[in-house]
Amino acid sequence: MTIAALPDLANARRLVVKVGSALLVERGVPRADWLGLLVADLVRLRESGTEVIVVSSGAIALGAAKLAMAKGGRGSLADAQASASVGQVELARLWSAALGAHGITAAQMLVTLGDLEDRRRYLNASATLARLLEAGAMPVVNENDSVATEEIRFGDNDRLAARVAQAADAEAVLLLSDVDGLYDRDPREADAQLIDRVEGVTPRIMAMATGASSSGLGSGGMQAKLQAARIAERAGIALAIANGAYDGPIARMLRENRGTLFVPQAGGSARKAWLSGRLAPAGVLTVDEGCGAALAKGASVLAAGLTDVAGTFHRGDLVAIHGTKGERLGQGLVEYDAAECRAILGLREGEQAERLGYAPRAAVVHRDHMVRA
Ligand code: GLU
Repeated sequence: MTIAALPDLANARRLVVKVGSALLVERGVPRADWLGLLVADLVRLRESGTEVIVVSSGAIALGAAKLAMAKGGRGSLADAQASASVGQVELARLWSAALGAHGITAAQMLVTLGDLEDRRRYLNASATLARLLEAGAMPVVNENDSVATEEIRFGDNDRLAARVAQAADAEAVLLLSDVDGLYDRDPREADAQLIDRVEGVTPRIMAMATGASSSGLGSGGMQAKLQAARIAERAGIALAIANGAYDGPIARMLRENRGTLFVPQAGGSARKAWLSGRLAPAGVLTVDEGCGAALAKGASVLAAGLTDVAGTFHRGDLVAIHGTKGERLGQGLVEYDAAECRAILGLREGEQAERLGYAPRAAVVHRDHMVRA
């Protein structure tokens, strides 16, 4: 893959597009016309079969203008949180109007670092994203800035976008910023060269970035983008940085092939990379032969195929899946606590609700959260 393959991003099955504050907000005023043209690009991607998830900044910048806060609302954490609460309402309205003009329903999703780091909450976020896309809505994600405190914040939407891509099992992330991409030195220097392809974010690459956001509006900056690229590359996700400061920026980027592409360093699907980095299994599910055979063909583990449940585990924990002879078939994130697994062992779907007291989940271990041995 080279920069000439940037159009591949457009062929991704699922793409996360991150929009920076400086693109969306100018002197406290939303750039609604620009957003309209960006959305036209996103709609085109959708029509060509790519599912799009947006990660949008801009809440703090918009709210700070409304509240007349100094330093763009970034003077203190309390200022940023208050600005974000006000600005998020406006931001959601903007996206809802822009997408609505194309008949697309906007879905707001506000997440904190913990939502994507904790395994149980990660599963919830990932299921919500999948369900929204299936229902035809376009998720518009931001950090829940008004409650996130300094220690538990992403702080920048670049890393958030990379984590969302993992949770959504996306193949690619596009960071739209107000710079063309990564330069080999400070882009203000005359002979700075745009790097079109990065094969691994090494310390040498990290050293090329300066910390500050060039616009002063967002908190991103190139360092945050490189950290995002590092998360993505390890998860097997392609990430590109391109300049969004044009009308119809995605169409332009694809036409002119200008940007920096970070090539994934790990194979396989994002969620599976995430899984393979997990700890020792907390329990063992034993499945019957039918279930084992289905699993080998890529199916999920259903309660009907369970014959034994060992260990004490909670929803979201990693469990091993064994066959009838104790052979290891795979491992994955379990959708139920151990006691619930025991309660529905061997039951068909229609029989589970009564036992559980709520509508059963689609599987005991879903294929998307499972790696085969
Ligand atoms: N979540 C912040 C906002 O909506 C933006 C963070 C960033 O600048 O990357 O204003």
